[in-house]
Amino acid sequence: MAGEAAKIAIDRDWVLATLARLIRINSVNPTLVPGGAGEAEIAAFVAGALAELGMEVDTVEPEPGRISVLGTTRGSGGGRSLMWNAHYDTVGVEGMAEPFSADFRDGRMYGRGAYDMKGSLAACLGGAKALRDAGVRLRGDLLIAAVADEEYGSLGTTSIIPRRSVDAAIVTEPTSLQVCLAHKGYLWIEVETTGRAAHGSRFQEGIDANMRMGRFLAGLDKLECELRSRPPHPLVGPPSLHAAMMNGGSGLSTYAARSVLQIERRSVPGETEARAMAELQAIADRLAAEDATFHATLRSFFVREPFEVSPQAAIVQAVDRAAEAVLGRPPLHVGDTPWMDAALLAAAGVETVVIGPHGAGAHAVEEWVEVDSVVRLAEILARAAIDYCG
Ligand SMILES: [Zn+2]
Repeated sequence: MAGEAAKIAIDRDWVLATLARLIRINSVNPTLVPGGAGEAEIAAFVAGALAELGMEVDTVEPEPGRISVLGTTRGSGGGRSLMWNAHYDTVGVEGMAEPFSADFRDGRMYGRGAYDMKGSLAACLGGAKALRDAGVRLRGDLLIAAVADEEYGSLGTTSIIPRRSVDAAIVTEPTSLQVCLAHKGYLWIEVETTGRAAHGSRFQEGIDANMRMGRFLAGLDKLECELRSRPPHPLVGPPSLHAAMMNGGSGLSTYAARSVLQIERRSVPGETEARAMAELQAIADRLAAEDATFHATLRSFFVREPFEVSPQAAIVQAVDRAAEAVLGRPPLHVGDTPWMDAALLAAAGVETVVIGPHGAGAHAVEEWVEVDSVVRLAEILARAAIDYCG
């Protein structure tokens, strides 16, 4: 199939027009931002575009209006299957002058989601169009997953994983056309110290839960420094944590009976939830051994695993070759710090890599994507599919 790659030509005008239409559709995540438009309208648009490209179209709707769309081009048989994945929900638009303008100037297209990550979805559609225009028939299946709710709970990718098994996936979160092989995970943890409520004048009876939380925080502060001094993961750096939110006590003239702290712990590939929790439990155990009135309970209530793929993985090598052909040099291998749907696919046994366009302003008041990088991403995706699916 190597000769097929030479026939790939991206329809730049079509990709730009498609990107503009995607940006003009409000798809603010309604769980993240109450009143957000959700994904129904953009799902209908993407389903239409996939059908026009001759792909089989399938939708999943695990909650009303939270629709994800799957486009499939069946292979002729005997090749490996590949999914291109892009989320089309966005964060909110507060403070943005013209969030849905799709203004195009100086090679950049502006608007909410341009960079995170409708540029990526436009590239996926443009890549599929280039394969069709070139008359390429892959041996393995090619899927485009346009997914809902990545910015909150990943309903979209979670609901498509059990429906369609694939050998590999390319998650197209923006990376400035670098090949991302790892990202961090995170745990949300609640720590509760308990004391004894008493009138503020009766120190003999009160046990101050807030003061006890202070002791825990002092230990946490030391652990936080220690985490950052560990040998860093070569692509994503060291683990970290922060004491994100606190709440304790019930009134000024009352000893606090209860104090609650919520911690976010960012994890690196190779770390486990059990190990991260044991490090925190050790602080509480030491404080309890020092003072019998110290009582703390810890629990993790949300966990997102870190992600890592070997540079030797077949999908990584296919993307490397495709990117080198398009960029004229081998792409950089990088890590990234935010969590992505890549971790869900990898945990489901799908060999996954991340590559996406260049731009700026994810979650900020001015967001743009560099359209040249969107067009080049489309070509990289098409060439990687020819290489990987055969
Ligand atoms: Zn994103």
